[in-house]
Amino acid sequence: MHIEDVGFADAEHHQVVVVGTGPAGLTAALYTARAKLAPVVYRGPQPGGQLITTTDVENYPGFPEGVLGPDLMMKFEEQASRFGADLRYGTVTMVDLARRPFRLLVDERTPVTAETLIVSTGASARYLGLENEERLLGRGVSSCATCDGAFFQDVEVAVIGGGDSAMEEALFLTRFASRVHVIHRRDELRASKIMQDRVLANEQIEVVWDTVVEDVLGEEEVEGALIRNVRTGETSELAVKGFFLAIGHTPNTEVFQGWLEMDEVGYIRTAADSTRTNVAGVFACGDAQDHVYRQAVTAAGTGCMAAIDAERWLVEQEEPGSGGSHLEPAITEEALSEAATLDVVDQAG
Ligand code: NAP
Repeated sequence: MHIEDVGFADAEHHQVVVVGTGPAGLTAALYTARAKLAPVVYRGPQPGGQLITTTDVENYPGFPEGVLGPDLMMKFEEQASRFGADLRYGTVTMVDLARRPFRLLVDERTPVTAETLIVSTGASARYLGLENEERLLGRGVSSCATCDGAFFQDVEVAVIGGGDSAMEEALFLTRFASRVHVIHRRDELRASKIMQDRVLANEQIEVVWDTVVEDVLGEEEVEGALIRNVRTGETSELAVKGFFLAIGHTPNTEVFQGWLEMDEVGYIRTAADSTRTNVAGVFACGDAQDHVYRQAVTAAGTGCMAAIDAERWLVEQEEPGSGGSHLEPAITEEALSEAATLDVVDQAG
């Protein structure tokens, strides 16, 4: 479908539309709601973002005893709602950022227009790309120990990766599994020292160093992993019932491709010390634009920045001589012609 085929004459119009409800989006919603901008917030496919699949969050300031990820996100939602943010279920599946008001399609059918857009779509878990990994997804293969860990009572499981997520998943899985094998492709973990120490001190966890996964084994459900030591070239089978991926994330920015400037991986580029994108009136925050810090607290921080940037930008549009928000093209001619060749990205294919 092309966005030109959609009628926008009767579309709901909003001052601010926030896309995504992780810490970044909900903070942007809170601040724009308190600024009386009546933000409409689309939750997207994973309401609450990545913290929904996290257990104990021990590093979010203000919670000295720690807090469960889903509980924290519930509080974010409550706080944004309290000030009038309109939180809705729905995913933005198509956009037209060529001119203001911006045109958006929600769930491939509901047209909406917006003066400003705050992109806080976050990032999603990555997979190795093995055929059997995909086939056995939900039948032993998982990217969320918090969601699926309890299914693996008294059996052995593998966690792939050497970062903080892998450490966190491995530690969590020791509550259920009899043994956790952390399979890491190098001889050094990427995770923070404190998480490494916890994992290395845990007798239920074994780190399988210098090792990659060649295949996931099993017919109906996971029965093992075929692994290869990258130093010796030796392959072996590891008998595990659970196969947990923790190898990082990909930004959920596909729907904005062709409109917003991104790096080669898909993280949205923002101007220095700001959340401004290459399109005036569109702001990006959280993991959709941050591949460096990627913390809930930094996402919330950039969400706040995006709200303030959007608010100031809206005020500027009203100033005499600004030309008004409906008159100037939102995007440079150069970017526009480039986007036109892409025929508007449709996330649903
Ligand atoms: P990450 O830090 O990017 O780590 C990804 C890990 O997966 C790395 O060890 C990487 O190996 C490995 N990997 C990547 N692609 C692979 C592939 N194709 N095959 C095998 N291994 C692969 O991602 P993350 O652990 O999700 O963490 C993301 C950010 O969130 C980090 O900043 C982290 O500190 C933060 N975080 C914090 C906490 C916490 O503080 N409680 C919890 C979770 C995440 P290499 O090391 O060889 O590159």
